[in-house]
Amino acid sequence: MVTEPVRILVVGGGYVGMYTALRLQRKLKPELKRGEVEIVVISPDPYMTYQPFLPEAAAGSISPRHVVVPLRRVLDHCRVVVGEVQSIDHAKRTASFTTLATAEEGTGALDISYDELVLAPGSISRTLPVPGLADYGIGFKTVEEAIGLRNHVIEQMDIASSTRDPAVREAALTFVFVGGGYAGVEALGELEDMARYAARYYHNVKAEDMKWILVEASGRILPEVGEEMGKYTVSQLRKRNIDVRLETRLDTCEDRVAVLSDGARFRTRTVVWTAGVKPHPLLAATDLPRNERGRLRCTAELSVDGAPHAWGAGDAAAVPDVTAGEPGKECAPNAQHAVRQAKVLGDNIAASLRKQPLQEYAHKYVGSVASLGLHKGVAHVYGRKLKGYPAWFMHRVYHLSRVPTLNRKSRVLAEWTLAGLFKREIVSLGSLEHPRAEFELAAGGERPKES
Ligand SMILES: Cc1cc2nc3c(=O)[nH]c(=O)nc-3n(C[C@H](O)[C@H](O)[C@H](O)COP(=O)(O)OP(=O)(O)OC[C@H]3O[C@@H](n4cnc5c(N)ncnc54)[C@H](O)[C@@H]3O)c2cc1C
Repeated sequence: MVTEPVRILVVGGGYVGMYTALRLQRKLKPELKRGEVEIVVISPDPYMTYQPFLPEAAAGSISPRHVVVPLRRVLDHCRVVVGEVQSIDHAKRTASFTTLATAEEGTGALDISYDELVLAPGSISRTLPVPGLADYGIGFKTVEEAIGLRNHVIEQMDIASSTRDPAVREAALTFVFVGGGYAGVEALGELEDMARYAARYYHNVKAEDMKWILVEASGRILPEVGEEMGKYTVSQLRKRNIDVRLETRLDTCEDRVAVLSDGARFRTRTVVWTAGVKPHPLLAATDLPRNERGRLRCTAELSVDGAPHAWGAGDAAAVPDVTAGEPGKECAPNAQHAVRQAKVLGDNIAASLRKQPLQEYAHKYVGSVASLGLHKGVAHVYGRKLKGYPAWFMHRVYHLSRVPTLNRKSRVLAEWTLAGLFKREIVSLGSLEHPRAEFELAAGGERPKES
């Protein structure tokens, strides 16, 4: 009699999805060889994004291709499906998903059955109903957004350089970032640094002509590095003439005017929204339990509470922080937890298939490092506080040690080394976003309207 292999379905190819699948293919090597187990990974992109490198990608210090890890190459014993899971019926152990081909074929969503489910779709930007935000806001979670933002910033400098209208120039040279977590602060720090450098090559745009504004609703920024280092970061940014506004919110950004809760108004063509994340909406399209904030309710063993054969971790999951000594405390949504949870998750699934005991996930947050531009940084790790160049250097060493695969490490290191020898790249390849525009024009079409 031929028995079907046990199918482990991994939803998401990010930190948790990729690292869990990697761990599983290593742990279950004999079972995979004998055809007793199969691992299927469904993810909308064929790559995992190393998000902590996005600010450096936006600044041009790392090429976009080196910020991502090709799933098919690293998960060579898994089946990688580029697609999007639309809903999950765990009672029936079925997920429905779409692919690029289903849209083309007009067949609608396909169903896939599974025995074990790893649900790791991560999080999406947490937006608020700010008028104009949906029309003009820019997110900073994907490599496409990071590169788009880099091109956009350089393009604004080109607009400012070529206009005679002071209002257009003012809007082009004003950059508003909303949210003072590491995504917002690092993105602003790196892009301001890059734009300041690029200004040397413009005859009529100076670094002092640009206005960079950081808007944060609470009274502090970078909570990840602690209060003292957060205050230091504010003072460093202000020294660079960056307008940091604490306890302030963005009220509206309609018609390219950002209005803040303190009454300030800025003409701007750039509003970057990095005001936190919320669990992925896919979780609401499942029959699995969620907590009041919409995260998947998980146990310390990373199984979904009360749902046998379902597992969760990362930004999408509410995993109890057993090191906190406070009941009800959850692990924060960050890469530090996601990577470590993935390892335990892979081990626990392998153990449960072999009817062995499961282990609890326990990791005490060790602090964080943040880059604020070339040679500038801040860090608070393992109780040690670092500022300026040493923190920036530590940021690079830490992330180089963490970025997956030797191949990526070598490429990133080579890029940093070359960047130290030559001048920074300051070109905007905005036309990458409209690759057919030139040919369409040649073939008698119209140029795409500027956004
Ligand atoms: C700019 C930036 C900088 C950061 N810097 C740091 C840092 O310095 N330190 C730190 O600890 N953390 C950092 N983080 C946070 C960290 O990246 C996240 O906590 C981590 O990525 C969470 O891992 P995850 O697997 O839960 O989600 P993700 O890594 O986001 O993976 C989710 C995956 O699910 C896929 N997916 C989404 N929808 C579906 C669907 N319907 N079907 C199938 N797949 C789907 C996505 O495409 C993605 O591949 C940063 C985040 C950002 C945005």
